[in-house]
Amino acid sequence: MSLANLLDRAGSGGRLTFSEGVRLYRDAPLHELGEAAHARRTALYPGDGVTYVIDTTINYTNVCNVHCTFCAFFRPEKHPGGYTMTHDEVVARVKHAVDLGATQIMIQGGVNPELRLEWFERLFRRVKSEFPLVDLHSLSVSEIVGLAWLEELSPRDVLIRLREAGMRSLPGAGAEILVERVRKRISARKVKPDEWLGVMRDAQQLGMPTTATMMFGSIETLEERIEHLEAIRSLQDETGGFTAFIPWYYVPHKTPLRGKEASGVDYLRVLAVSRLYLDNVPHLQASWLTPGLKLGQLALFYGCDDMGGTIIEERVVRDAGSTNEATRAQVEGLIHGAGYRPVIRDTYWNVRADMPLATAG
Ligand code: SF4
Repeated sequence: MSLANLLDRAGSGGRLTFSEGVRLYRDAPLHELGEAAHARRTALYPGDGVTYVIDTTINYTNVCNVHCTFCAFFRPEKHPGGYTMTHDEVVARVKHAVDLGATQIMIQGGVNPELRLEWFERLFRRVKSEFPLVDLHSLSVSEIVGLAWLEELSPRDVLIRLREAGMRSLPGAGAEILVERVRKRISARKVKPDEWLGVMRDAQQLGMPTTATMMFGSIETLEERIEHLEAIRSLQDETGGFTAFIPWYYVPHKTPLRGKEASGVDYLRVLAVSRLYLDNVPHLQASWLTPGLKLGQLALFYGCDDMGGTIIEERVVRDAGSTNEATRAQVEGLIHGAGYRPVIRDTYWNVRADMPLATAG
């Protein structure tokens, strides 16, 4: 099949095989690739709305026993630079975010073996009792597996306990690249690809919506990026539990792994191929935190239908050298500037028409 025909088929929602995904990624000219991804996105969401969520990420501890080589945020146990927030400190940050309109709270951190499951249960119950309207879209597969190990429970039982304490959805962090060769090099002590997918399956079967991420641009090959997409697509065929896919690129500046930062062109190619390959994942999120706001805006023409969150407070990516941040007005300004209309959503993609925009348009 010619490249043009393949792009036409993918842009109309036809399923790509692994080798077709690789071929598009490798050979399709950037603009044609973007055009096909944008056609697919427009067919799925024909209106002029682009969603975003008002959220915060509270990195409650930087102590972590996983030691990923791409991470500049963590400190090993007993390190003088390690910190763990008290419940009062976390709750004060939640309050600050809620005062700014946040509906989604991501409480995420390192895998800190000092913190037992009961610590999280008390924290989540307190947050939900003081701020009943917020959605706790919190922790990650690594933290769930760390707690399961500590408590001698299955990850599923940990999820059940956390769900009872108020955590209703699980972010897709920690997927990096779901290929064993890559994980051995960049996060040897982290959960294996099958474990990551297994915990996601558990959460989805328990009725907790999840997202999926991909951290690209470290040491993986182009084929391994498509392998990652294939793993997400296969699980989604089985469960339908992923609401969104969020590819973001590795920021090497202050990490032990080092290396070179991905280019803007690479970012846009990943977005477009993701939109075309993941024909069963509804939303594609522009992850402007690493590529920056202007490239995040351009992402809206490469398959993205969502600008992600305002990420009021975040340290993991910032500690690696990213300096991007945005107010609600800036995020809305980017959406307006691209010719779209900002729409506030919640964690479950419900439109929050009751919440006023920060800008008049
Ligand atoms: S990426 Fe997460 S799991 Fe890995 S070292 Fe950093 S905090 Fe720990």
